[in-house]
Amino acid sequence: MIEIKDKSQCCGCSACVSACPKECISMQSDSEGFAYPVVDRKSCIGCGLCEKVCPFINPGQDRKPVKVYAAKNSDEVIRMKSSSGGVFYALAESVIKDGGVVFGARFDASWNVVHGYAETVDELYPFMGSKYVQSSIGKSYVQAEHFLKTGRKVLFSGTPCQTAGLMHYLKNRYDNLLTAAVICHGVPSPKIWKIYLDKEIKSQVAGKTKASKRNMALSFSVDMPKITGISFRDKTSGWKNYSFVVRVKSVVEMDKSSVLLSDMHMVNPFMKSFLSNLNLRPSCYACAAKGGRACCDIMLGDFWGIENVLPDFDDDKGCSAVLIYGKRALSFVSTLPLIKHEVSFNDVSAFNSCLTSSVSHQHNRYFFFRQVAKGDTISSAYHDVVDDSFFKRFCRILYRKFGI
Ligand SMILES: Cc1cc2nc3c(=O)[nH]c(=O)nc-3n(C[C@H](O)[C@H](O)[C@H](O)COP(=O)(O)OP(=O)(O)OC[C@H]3O[C@@H](n4cnc5c(N)ncnc54)[C@H](O)[C@@H]3O)c2cc1C
Ligand code: SF4
Ligand code: SF4
Ligand code: SF4
Repeated sequence: MIEIKDKSQCCGCSACVSACPKECISMQSDSEGFAYPVVDRKSCIGCGLCEKVCPFINPGQDRKPVKVYAAKNSDEVIRMKSSSGGVFYALAESVIKDGGVVFGARFDASWNVVHGYAETVDELYPFMGSKYVQSSIGKSYVQAEHFLKTGRKVLFSGTPCQTAGLMHYLKNRYDNLLTAAVICHGVPSPKIWKIYLDKEIKSQVAGKTKASKRNMALSFSVDMPKITGISFRDKTSGWKNYSFVVRVKSVVEMDKSSVLLSDMHMVNPFMKSFLSNLNLRPSCYACAAKGGRACCDIMLGDFWGIENVLPDFDDDKGCSAVLIYGKRALSFVSTLPLIKHEVSFNDVSAFNSCLTSSVSHQHNRYFFFRQVAKGDTISSAYHDVVDDSFFKRFCRILYRKFGI
């Protein structure tokens, strides 16, 4: 029976929940906002299935890819909407056009990140773009298994631990399954995301409504505009200089969207807490699914450093690193509308340490979560923990040693 004693040993993939024949495991969020499995011991029959499917208890083999490419989607509009080179869309569109089903991460109506599936090209768009929040798998493994058994093609995309979770959950190998994992820095806490959304983004939405009403001297009541889109990787200022962008329904023309917030990634507080490893799941500092251990057919990432490897290929609109594990995936990728060049594994790993190694644990992470729990905004919690003044460092040492 699964029992989480060390949180760094559970990535929250939900394979155990999906596999339990008694349905007696549920995912419950801890104080940091990360979900962990909790077993209803009264219903457990001790079959051990939950342990058998856990990718942290049974890590996969480290494999080397058979081919590595630098690749771009040949459709520039698709590429600009994607976080890297738009390779995910090319894979997904092909599977859908073949009557298949695509699983991926999207926002729900309340801007939580969840896994779901698409059966049409239109349903694919919400999966495009990286969302830097841990997605909830829900029933996706069970649904994917159902589609596989009916003989439909399935593309399952997600983080490496999610593709590993699916492969451990499925009892059989399926020729109609393709798995695509992203190269993964780590996943931020859904709770931190929600706090940032509620305290900082929504207050800006409210502020904008008031200002618009004042500017237009509106006497009638104007509803708070709805958020219409959130992009963690807007490429308007370039792929390398990407921005975090929030769009809302225009107060003036209700059928249009306007940009509420556009922050370069290095100044946005949520992105800063992500990139400095303050808001990640504990398992991301000791990841068991790095490199070939994701059990995936294809791995997709940003080809950081492309300007050094293939300078003529870099137009700052996005380039993907594509790592292919196996002949079946290789022949599938060869049919896609991609512009690509073969490169070496080292060309990718040289500028992308997350391909092979976990990010380093930050001693300030604990203080960051503590400040947020005390009611700080993400901006001020970030500011507090990176404040390196002698006084702040002294306070942190006191707290760590004596709880003062
Ligand atoms: C949390 C996270 C961390 C990442 N870290 C790195 C990194 O360190 N280095 C690197 O090179 N690349 C990283 N990537 C991958 C990169 O940002 C692109 O997602 C990837 O290159 C695919 O880009 P694309 O242009 O082909 O397609 P896009 O349309 O940009 O990507 C969409 C794909 O991302 C998946 N996805 C989006 N958000 C999530 C999520 N929250 N959980 C699971 N899957 C999600 C979708 O299911 C879909 O498969 C990360 C992605 C995520 C989601
Ligand atoms: S041992 Fe079996 S019944 Fe008990 S929680 Fe695990 S999978 Fe469920
Ligand atoms: S890693 Fe996945 S399978 Fe293992 S305990 Fe955590 S949620 Fe369950
Ligand atoms: S870093 Fe590893 S454990 Fe964390 S989300 Fe990515 S694959 Fe999962």
